[in-house]
Amino acid sequence: KQALKECNQFIADFEKVIKKPKKDPSTIYYTGVDLGTACIVLAVLDEHFKPVAGAYRYADVVRDGMVVDYIGAVEIVSELKAELEQKLQTELLYAAASLPPGTDELDGGAIKNVVQSAGFELTNLLDEPTAANQLLNITDGAVVDIGGGTTGISIIESGRVVKVADEATGGTHLSLVLAGAYKFSFDEAERYKRNEKHHDELLPTLKPVIEKISSIITQQISGYTVKGIYLVGGTACLKNIETIIEKTTGIPTFKPLNPMFATPLGIALSC
Ligand code: ATP
Repeated sequence: KQALKECNQFIADFEKVIKKPKKDPSTIYYTGVDLGTACIVLAVLDEHFKPVAGAYRYADVVRDGMVVDYIGAVEIVSELKAELEQKLQTELLYAAASLPPGTDELDGGAIKNVVQSAGFELTNLLDEPTAANQLLNITDGAVVDIGGGTTGISIIESGRVVKVADEATGGTHLSLVLAGAYKFSFDEAERYKRNEKHHDELLPTLKPVIEKISSIITQQISGYTVKGIYLVGGTACLKNIETIIEKTTGIPTFKPLNPMFATPLGIALSC
């Protein structure tokens, strides 16, 4: 509970500096670059590892952790970097990035090249749920990162990551179901789903997919003693998703305030 409380404070501070960056001078800045299927987020921390600025943009340049539009990805990261540099009146030099577990050999190089081509020196590249745990600080439990195309699972025992896994399901699957049920285009479904005002209404339609995600979590953690599940990633923003996952897995399930920012902040902390 204490870890979650501190994490929530950190995320609340980050949300504040996205709106109004902190301009106090710092000798060094650390940037977390989260290249997601749906969203690209840059989180900037100061020399004390406190949030000072952040920016994000919904984009379609990465799919399931794979960079599918290299030039587009470099352009967006460069633009967000320039926007933050202008706000902070400084050059951002160092960045870390992450990728879904198990995709390192396939795409680690592309993500690294995007970050470097945008003008950063890459200091670390780690998997998404492990990155999120840099912020969550869970010593025992499972961090489950439900993104757009993928759900990453990281099992932690006595502070050590003992298993990472990645499954091809997430928010994109939810949007496709919604598009079918409401006769929306995919983009309309995405926008409708992201609006929290619609969450109560949407939950019954989305419940079967959430239960499928839960059964995937159950499969991946079988054989391990997991006493708590900690949800991060954009899809975890869905109101009451934690209630369905808790009920289906039978394991207490928690999520931080705005789970979408746990991974980029964790990446920045790992810089
Ligand atoms: P991946 O991990 O698959 O590469 P990603 O890093 O882009 O994807 P996130 O940015 O963590 O993933 O999450 C993106 C997903 O979260 C999208 O499916 C998006 O529709 C969904 N999402 C974002 N905000 C919300 C919200 N407020 N409510 C519901 N879903 C949301």
